[in-house]
Amino acid sequence: MSSDNFYQEYEVPEDLRFRTQDILRNGGLNCSAKLAPKYFEAIFTPPNKITEVQVSLEFWPTGKEITVRGRVWGKRTVRCDRCLKETTQNFDENFLETASASAEIIDIMLLVRQTLALTEDIQFLCTPDCKGLCSQCGKNLNEGPCNCKPEILSPFAVLKGKFK
Ligand SMILES: [Zn+2]
Ligand SMILES: [Zn+2]
Repeated sequence: MSSDNFYQEYEVPEDLRFRTQDILRNGGLNCSAKLAPKYFEAIFTPPNKITEVQVSLEFWPTGKEITVRGRVWGKRTVRCDRCLKETTQNFDENFLETASASAEIIDIMLLVRQTLALTEDIQFLCTPDCKGLCSQCGKNLNEGPCNCKPEILSPFAVLKGKFK
């Protein structure tokens, strides 16, 4: 065990609101916890969602402030913008913040939620070369071609129409 593994037994508050006194009294705090997904339901645009969240946190007092280093990781389910298939992926993010040592509570939930919000991509693709859905029959073209005729208009087709 390394010497910085002090206070591992600390029971992490479910809503991640830490009492500043608990941190100061021990000269710092290291802890980790698995969080209930209910706290993160509204962060992504449905059907995208966060399904699993874990945090590890390290607090250390620096005079008038307390510095917090956090890692948040887990799983998210996201829908491909082209083929609409939903896939589950891992995410793993870090944050670093300072809070006032004179505050009664340090609200880490806010930081975790902000960090998670940034993990939602504006455009998500299941694979970089996702073929998407056929615009005519709606078949997922990643699973193979469909029987629709391609919508390509050859220059000859246009000319043929003109001279008829
Ligand atoms: Zn796709
Ligand atoms: Zn088709």
